[in-house]
Amino acid sequence: MLTVDNLKDLKGKRVLVRVDFNVPLKEGKIRDDNRIVAALPTIKKLVNEGAKVILMSHLGKIKHKEAPEVVEAQKKKNDLSVVRGRLEELLGVTVSFCPELKGKDFHYFVDTLEDGTVLLCQNTRYEKGEEKNDSELAKEWASVADVFVMDAFGSAHRAHASTNGIPAILKEEGKPVACGYLVEKEINSLMRCVDVKDSDRPYVAILGGLKVSDKIKVIDSLLKKCDKILIGGAMAYTFAKALGKDVGTSPCELDQLDYALKCLKEANGRIVLPLDSVAANGFDDWTDKKVTSDQNIPEGYQGMDIGPKTIKLFKEEISKAKMVFWNGPMGVFEQKDFQAGTLAICEAIRELDGKAFTVCGGGDSAAAVKEFGFKDDFSHVSTGGGASLEMIENDGHLPGVDILK
Ligand code: ADP
Ligand code: MG
Repeated sequence: MLTVDNLKDLKGKRVLVRVDFNVPLKEGKIRDDNRIVAALPTIKKLVNEGAKVILMSHLGKIKHKEAPEVVEAQKKKNDLSVVRGRLEELLGVTVSFCPELKGKDFHYFVDTLEDGTVLLCQNTRYEKGEEKNDSELAKEWASVADVFVMDAFGSAHRAHASTNGIPAILKEEGKPVACGYLVEKEINSLMRCVDVKDSDRPYVAILGGLKVSDKIKVIDSLLKKCDKILIGGAMAYTFAKALGKDVGTSPCELDQLDYALKCLKEANGRIVLPLDSVAANGFDDWTDKKVTSDQNIPEGYQGMDIGPKTIKLFKEEISKAKMVFWNGPMGVFEQKDFQAGTLAICEAIRELDGKAFTVCGGGDSAAAVKEFGFKDDFSHVSTGGGASLEMIENDGHLPGVDILK
């Protein structure tokens, strides 16, 4: 696979870069510019080489099946021009905005672009063909590019026109397609968790979050690779129930009990379940909380976090690891009273002091790591929630990455 560093003679070339500017908005303003900052190295490199840089990204959701006025409202809410000013500030290079994604005006904007400057195009999802990977749309987009660079890791698990359609066409035409710096780092880090070297063992996975059913393929894949799988979060109560424990009103998926038992059997002792919980008599409206003495949850209570004995056990397991992959918070970390488990995992990673290769993948878990201030303690915190999980599930394959090969 080519990377941006392999691309030569870029002066005057039209380089179309798929970036991830799907930034969180609040009242029409950018709430967090992390994703823009993350795309800068690739854009800067191309600008410095004198390329004409064309940026495409999606922003939010636009449901084209809804009534026209609803679609219009969604478009207004997710207008990508909101990013232009901030990007220009961060880059220190002129960024113009193209409100059209096809037709005469679109081509005019591209044709008049000067070397070493940047054109940001409107939200790709304004076009209904984007999510369908429509070939006509992909053809029109590909027609304005001499080179394609994929730097939107968070969108690499989607086979859309901008992530998969464009590079497929350019490749056929013999034009270069490459990954950007961000995607390169994501692939290298996550591939290490997929193709496990002996020197990276013991390999410990930590799984949490809400649902077993969301993570079946991840669990299956990790079971084949890991030496230990520590399970916390709401997910642990499905496992507890399968083992005949009382789970009170904890979230529990009754249709996954057989699956949980199958995993435990296959794991043959490698799955480590919680020894205790912090439970509360409600979710948002609780008035009492208690630490349970074992895996059983009292009636009328629900498990909200792993307990102190579990924290000690999980920390011990993590301290022995040479490689860690973590997905899913250990408890309801959004509430202060139930942060301890998730925080303890972060601390255990810090205590490894760089002696192990540590990756966090998953939207909420990565958010927790950043919020608690542990981002720099990890070897890699993935920028793509869904994409990082699919990478693990599919043994390193993603439609937006495979097409670059
Ligand atoms: P990720 O995005 O990292 O893959 P998930 O989306 O699977 O993680 O799960 C995250 C959510 O799981 C969080 O909102 C957290 O509050 C919730 N969660 C974790 N433990 C529990 C629990 N014991 N009860 C209810 N919700 C939980
Ligand atoms: Mg999530």
